[in-house]
Amino acid sequence: MKPIFANSAFVLAPERLFLRGGAWRRVPLKVRYGFFRHPTAGAVLIDTGYGPSVTQGPRSLTLRLYNRVLGPSLVADGQPEPVLRRLGLKVEDVGTIIVTHFHADHVAGLNLFPKARIVAKAEVLRTILKQSAYKNLRHGVFSELLPADLASRVEDVDGVAVREAPLGLGRGRDLFGDGSVLAMNLPGHAEGHFGLCFANLPVPLLYAVDAQWCAEALEEGRRPGFPASLIAHDPNALAESARRVLAFRQAGGAVLLCHDPAESRYDLAAEVP
Ligand SMILES: [Zn+2]
Repeated sequence: MKPIFANSAFVLAPERLFLRGGAWRRVPLKVRYGFFRHPTAGAVLIDTGYGPSVTQGPRSLTLRLYNRVLGPSLVADGQPEPVLRRLGLKVEDVGTIIVTHFHADHVAGLNLFPKARIVAKAEVLRTILKQSAYKNLRHGVFSELLPADLASRVEDVDGVAVREAPLGLGRGRDLFGDGSVLAMNLPGHAEGHFGLCFANLPVPLLYAVDAQWCAEALEEGRRPGFPASLIAHDPNALAESARRVLAFRQAGGAVLLCHDPAESRYDLAAEVP
C-alpha cells in the first residue's frame, strides 16, 4: 500500500528562507498531497494541496493578500480531479481525507469532497472554529476554506488506538486499526501538526509533511533560523520534530516532505503529453 503524491502548485521561495546556508536564488517548492488505496477504507487522500479556492473567486481580503504574498502557481493537471481521473477514480470515490493540519495549502480542496469522512485533530478544529478570524490568520489558518459541516464529518485522530512505529520513531495513532498507517505527532509547525508513517512498506515511509520544507534542512545546522522561525507555531518543538524525523531516516526509513523541491520516488510521474 504505497502512497503516491501529486503536486498541486509551485511556490517560489528564496532557498535561504528554508535552508540555512542556502542561496538567495528562488526555488520552486512543491505543494504535495497524497493518495493511497486502503484494502477496506478504499480511496484515501492525505490533505488536498492548493486549489482555486485560494487563488480566485470570492474571498476575504486577508486571503487575497495571503495569495498575493505567496503567489502559488497552480498545476492544472495536479489538482485532485484530474489526478483522480488518471487513477481511474472520481471525487465521489474518495471516502476518507486525512488532514495533517489546517493551513491553506492543505485544506484548499476540501470543498471538492462534500461527502468524505475527515480524519483530523478534532480539538484543533474546534478551537479554529471558535476563535476570531484574526487569531486564525496569525496561525496561517483561513476558516473560510473549511466546509461549513466539517466538524460533523471529523473523526478524531486522537480517538484511535496507539501502536509502536518502526525504527524507533515512537508511538503513533493506528488510523485503520491494521498497523498500516500511523499518525505521528510532529509538533512545532502548526497546532496539532502530524505526519503519517507507512509502517509495513519494505522501507517504512514517514510523510513528515511540514516538519521542514526540504530534506537537507532536517540536518543539524541546516535548519533555517529567522525569519522562518517566525512562522513556526513553536520553534523548539519544530527543532525536536526535525531531529526525530532525521533519526528515523538515519535508522533506514524513507522520509518525504510536502514542499521539498526535489523529485521523489513517491511522486506521481508527470503526465506524458
Ligand atoms: Zn503548513
